[in-house]
Amino acid sequence: MTTTASITEYAATTRGHLEQPRTGVTALDDASELDRADPLAPFRERFLPIDDPGILAYLDGNSLGRPLRRTAARLTELLTVEWGTRLVRGWSEGWMTEPERLGDRLGAAALGAAPGQTIIADQTTVCLYKAIRAAAAMRPGRREIVTDVHNFPTDRYVVEGIAAELGMAVRWLETDPAAGPTPESVAAAIGPDTALVTLSHVAYSSAFLADMRAITAAVHRVGALVVWDLCHSVGSVDVRLDEAQADFAAGCTYKYLSGGPGAPAFLYVRRAHHGRFHQPIWGWVGRASPFAMADGYRPAEGVRAAASGTPPVVGMTGVADGVELVAEVGISRIRAKAVALTELAVELADAWLAPYGFSLASPRDPAHRGAHVTLAHAEAESLTAKLVKAGVIVDFRPPDGIRIGCSPLSTSYSDLWRAMYRIAELAH
Ligand SMILES: *Cc1c(COP(=O)(O)O)cnc(C)c1O
Repeated sequence: MTTTASITEYAATTRGHLEQPRTGVTALDDASELDRADPLAPFRERFLPIDDPGILAYLDGNSLGRPLRRTAARLTELLTVEWGTRLVRGWSEGWMTEPERLGDRLGAAALGAAPGQTIIADQTTVCLYKAIRAAAAMRPGRREIVTDVHNFPTDRYVVEGIAAELGMAVRWLETDPAAGPTPESVAAAIGPDTALVTLSHVAYSSAFLADMRAITAAVHRVGALVVWDLCHSVGSVDVRLDEAQADFAAGCTYKYLSGGPGAPAFLYVRRAHHGRFHQPIWGWVGRASPFAMADGYRPAEGVRAAASGTPPVVGMTGVADGVELVAEVGISRIRAKAVALTELAVELADAWLAPYGFSLASPRDPAHRGAHVTLAHAEAESLTAKLVKAGVIVDFRPPDGIRIGCSPLSTSYSDLWRAMYRIAELAH
């Protein structure tokens, strides 16, 4: 499926039209054939059509997933029926316990988590804060928090804030920007003074897919705990939290789960830690018997102790739809399509873009790659602006990355093909 044919040769044969290339590279017809053979193609219909003729391809679902048709109906129903007629009675008729119910469904569909360990709450940033503080408190006397220099900014800031707050030190893992933390690099950075390690399972920039099981085992060998950020893996890769014996995990629901802008996050706490973890934001909803309005804070049982305030009922509506879709399709089929899409992106980037100063800033081996591909280019920022203007919605990540998100449920092979071709046209 690979070739060295450049886009110049390609364009010469097609006179600027999107037609068959001469040889080698996957052609538009072949991409359409992949769509016809794609068992996930029918699920694209579940998404609201993009009502903007200026958009050629949406390749930023890893920043904000496209909305589901069902969510439009469900939000209206919530407004008119559940909220509109049940009013405050809604709290005792299901809203109050929905964070755990939905957490369980999410755990089963996408996290490899048995029931009772996942709750929907807050934002990722707040969930990370709670999990990291709780983990630090479980390892008193140990002074170091380990994370990697290429972790998402909010993760790094939360770690720095907690270290400042608790008088701990941050130990920074220096990782390859086009890759991420390996079991070996983590093992080399941890020891008896490590309280916890926090890492992204799929790196937001490079899409590097970390070996959750081996890293978790390495961290446990020195007696430390691990907090995984799943923002870029939930709904795109087969996460196995229980199997990996992960301690804590958090992630957002508005990327591959299509929960909607600002939809609430989730927090996973391994059952073995229930009753022993203490998160720092003591609120009435995380208290045993919240409606007793009693004096003093006593944490609720189980993962409920991770909650703080009123459940985000409106925000959970879209999340529930995204979770149901993942459950219906199955995470292994979703992952298989993510691999196929990103392989196509890499193939076309090699063939058409490498001659114009682009290099792959994601792992070449799909076994180590999530559902996006990042291309490095010296003029990535201005190119991204041009691309967005030309209807190819991708995003820029400093210092020089163009991220191409391949949301498996909403992206077609021909979408991706057209977008890559447009990038090549703009670049040469
Ligand atoms: C998207 C993302 C976040 C976002 O955090 P919010 O609190 O939802 O804004 C955090 N961490 C990673 C790794 C992300 O990719």
